[in-house]
Amino acid sequence: MIPAPHSPAAAALELREVHRRYGKVAAATGLQLSVQPGELVTIIGPSGCGKSTLLRLIAGLERPDAGVITIAGKVAADRRRFQQPEHRQVGLVFQDHALFPNLTVAGNIAFGLQKSPAARRAARVAEVLQLVRLSHLAQRYPHELSGGEQQRVALARALAPSPAVVLLDEPFSSLDETLRARVRGDVEAVLRATGTTAILVTHDQTEALSFGDRVVVMRSGRIEQVDVPEAVFERPASRFVATFMGDADFLPARVRDGRLECELGRIPGSWPPDTPDEQLEVVLRPHEVSLAADEHGDATVVSSEYRGVFTLHHVQLGSGRTVRALQLHPVRLAPGQRVVARISHGTIPTVLRGEHAAGTFPRPTPALDAPEDARRPITTP
Ligand code: ADP
Repeated sequence: MIPAPHSPAAAALELREVHRRYGKVAAATGLQLSVQPGELVTIIGPSGCGKSTLLRLIAGLERPDAGVITIAGKVAADRRRFQQPEHRQVGLVFQDHALFPNLTVAGNIAFGLQKSPAARRAARVAEVLQLVRLSHLAQRYPHELSGGEQQRVALARALAPSPAVVLLDEPFSSLDETLRARVRGDVEAVLRATGTTAILVTHDQTEALSFGDRVVVMRSGRIEQVDVPEAVFERPASRFVATFMGDADFLPARVRDGRLECELGRIPGSWPPDTPDEQLEVVLRPHEVSLAADEHGDATVVSSEYRGVFTLHHVQLGSGRTVRALQLHPVRLAPGQRVVARISHGTIPTVLRGEHAAGTFPRPTPALDAPEDARRPITTP
């Protein structure tokens, strides 16, 4: 039976109002998160925002000051109860692999299966080795493996006891750029093939957007937004998320005859004419701004950076504000060139009121089961 989406009974992992302080530092404040079986969730946020604390709370390496954590429907921590890490069905994969150097690949993977009878243990080791395509390296030692292979062994070791949730703490950050994308793809494929629920911590925006089913953006111990990658990037809930998940410029906007306008033109969608327009701003990512050379344009190219496929232009508008515009490489406009800057065709930019997406101010706690539209007041044409 397919579990109902976001039904608490079906969650592989659930955090309810989880708090954790270290002295004066609030490392986790009112964390709410429900992860479905087989779901891959990435956690992203600036250094010190509480990502590791969240993982450690789930793993049982920290105790919450308040709140409830359930794993596979069982209470792992609440006000009275606290399951030790070894009794939680959680697998861990760290950045530095943490493989035992004196054990072979097979020995490393078998390590977490000591309670199983020898025959079953050997069968399971063979099974997970096949999953990560390392059967041929079973008798090697960690120092005889590449970084990517070591990471796959670490994953195999975490998967061997069939945990309810695998926690991956920046698992690819010690790998070089080219290898990272490949190992990430391999790891995701194995997690998907085994239907494993996983939480991955990263500080890399591209990784967060490309790896998971949902992204959790954290800031100062709080969850700022939880949503599918497209929503976090295209419909950020706040100025912080808009800025953190990619380049963004902000232009003041006002409502005129039910339409929202900014210096780059009209924003698609209709707004109630009586919408108060103080503090309204449009969020524009560089790829959402188009440029056309025009001697009568009221904007001017200040500088351009060639980036291979794209050229990034810095453009000063008539008001003196600047925006960035990413154009495909055939469009390369020289500094001093007069241009007309517009919102690219098909773009429906996010509108902020103050620090939060307009229409959700004051913003409710991110509700996992709130319909996506609740955060989007714009009626698209
Ligand atoms: P992140 O993983 O996002 O970098 P952390 O969860 O490691 O963030 O830390 C969150 C905050 O809690 C930081 O301000 C950090 O300094 C603080 N912190 C984390 N662990 C401890 C600890 N054991 N003692 C005191 N402060 C801690």
